[in-house]
Amino acid sequence: MENVIEETKSIMKKYGIRANKNLGQNFLIDEDTINTIIESAEIKKEDCVIEIGPGLGTLTKELVKKAGKVICIELDSKMISILKDRFSEEVTLINQDILKVDLKELIEEQKKEKRVVKIVANLPYYITTPIVMKLLEERLEIESITIMIQKEVAERLTCIPGEKDSGAITYSVYYYAQAKRIKEVPNSSFLPEPEVTSEVIQLILRKEPVVKVKDEKLLFQLIKVAFMQRRKTLQNALSKSPFFENKQQIKQILEKLQLDEKVRGEELTIEQFAEIANQIIQQKGE
Ligand code: SAM
Repeated sequence: MENVIEETKSIMKKYGIRANKNLGQNFLIDEDTINTIIESAEIKKEDCVIEIGPGLGTLTKELVKKAGKVICIELDSKMISILKDRFSEEVTLINQDILKVDLKELIEEQKKEKRVVKIVANLPYYITTPIVMKLLEERLEIESITIMIQKEVAERLTCIPGEKDSGAITYSVYYYAQAKRIKEVPNSSFLPEPEVTSEVIQLILRKEPVVKVKDEKLLFQLIKVAFMQRRKTLQNALSKSPFFENKQQIKQILEKLQLDEKVRGEELTIEQFAEIANQIIQQKGE
């Protein structure tokens, strides 16, 4: 690998690029971290890698060496011009907002070619959560997601539901995937330096969700309501929710599941939330 710092600076100079903060442009300039991302993604020739936010193409350059196919989705058309020059026929470029791309269709096309689809990205941090949720909730046929994100977000996405750093999103990630923390990355590994510490994480998608639930939407609505008022007891948080007509109904469910009436939502496992969701449906006689 050439000296990445020099290469990045020279590309930026050649094309007159100034990193756009609003687009979360912090270019990766640390060789060790690039290697870690590429190695942890375990890319093979039969794989199609979808890279989100390729920027100047630092990761892309390594991805094309390993993958059978690389598709880059980048919002900034200036970056697209650079990528066209650097990789011409080697990569498929999509100049669009990742949140608006029809990933289902794109991935189905890859599946027809018998490719295993993997996501690799140094994500734009301002939209980490919507991107991760899109990748998971759309039930795409992806094998793994290897991404650089902000460290605090990494902690929330990768902990076990019920642990200290849990948020509502922890339950969603755990439902769909097995999460692994890979490497903490200091600010100095980027140009320009972001204000936060970063971390590489990996999500391996589960073949089946971790719990069986009759109504997935209800499960996540329930978790969301519980976490919106996380300091309250679960009973109080849910009492104003549309799921119950009165407190007695919640009490009955908590008793049935042998949960203390003072328990807070953040103390519950995903299995317990799933049981509550299933009990709500039973109470309604559906
Ligand atoms: N992959 C490059 C690297 O590691 O040096 C750049 C990573 S930079 C943190 C994030 C990239 O995402 C930028 O190139 C930015 O233009 C792009 N980006 C920002 N918002 C986007 C969006 N909504 N859809 C697609 N790409 C986006």
